[in-house]
Amino acid sequence: MKKLLILGAGTAGTMMANKMRKDLTSSEWEITIIDKSEDHLYQPGFLFIPFGYYKKSDIIKPSQKFFTSGINVVYGSSEPSIPSIAESISSSGFTSST
Ligand SMILES: Cc1cc2nc3c(=O)[nH]c(=O)nc-3n(C[C@H](O)[C@H](O)[C@H](O)COP(=O)(O)OP(=O)(O)OC[C@H]3O[C@@H](n4cnc5c(N)ncnc54)[C@H](O)[C@@H]3O)c2cc1C
Repeated sequence: MKKLLILGAGTAGTMMANKMRKDLTSSEWEITIIDKSEDHLYQPGFLFIPFGYYKKSDIIKPSQKFFTSGINVVYGSSEPSIPSIAESISSSGFTSST
């Protein structure tokens, strides 16, 4: 099984994970994404908070709801080093040779 690890479940990481899950077969590729927060922040929405157009709950949502099925999501900081990332997500089955 090949393994793809994506660091950061923000806009870029979420789009990449969903795109790769669509393009890579589940039987061949395991996809794992790691983020320190379980919340997804819709950053453009920050601009509307001071003017009362959005409230906090409009721009902060559980990140889990944005992932398609078949993606392992791990919550925890990826600092300070890549080996510690691999260690922190070892329970998901990801291993690293670094
Ligand atoms: C006020 C504002 C308005 C904006 N308006 C627009 C707009 O109108 N149009 C537009 O196209 N763009 C806009 N942007 C920019 C857009 O939001 C960003 O370009 C986009 O979110 C960047 O995506 P990203 O995935 O690179 O980073 P982010 O979305 O910031 O994601 C980074 C992720 O990495 C995680 N992370 C960071 N460090 C660690 C760590 N050590 N361990 C684990 N996880 C970690 C964070 O928790 C986060 O989830 C705006 C940004 C702001 C702040």
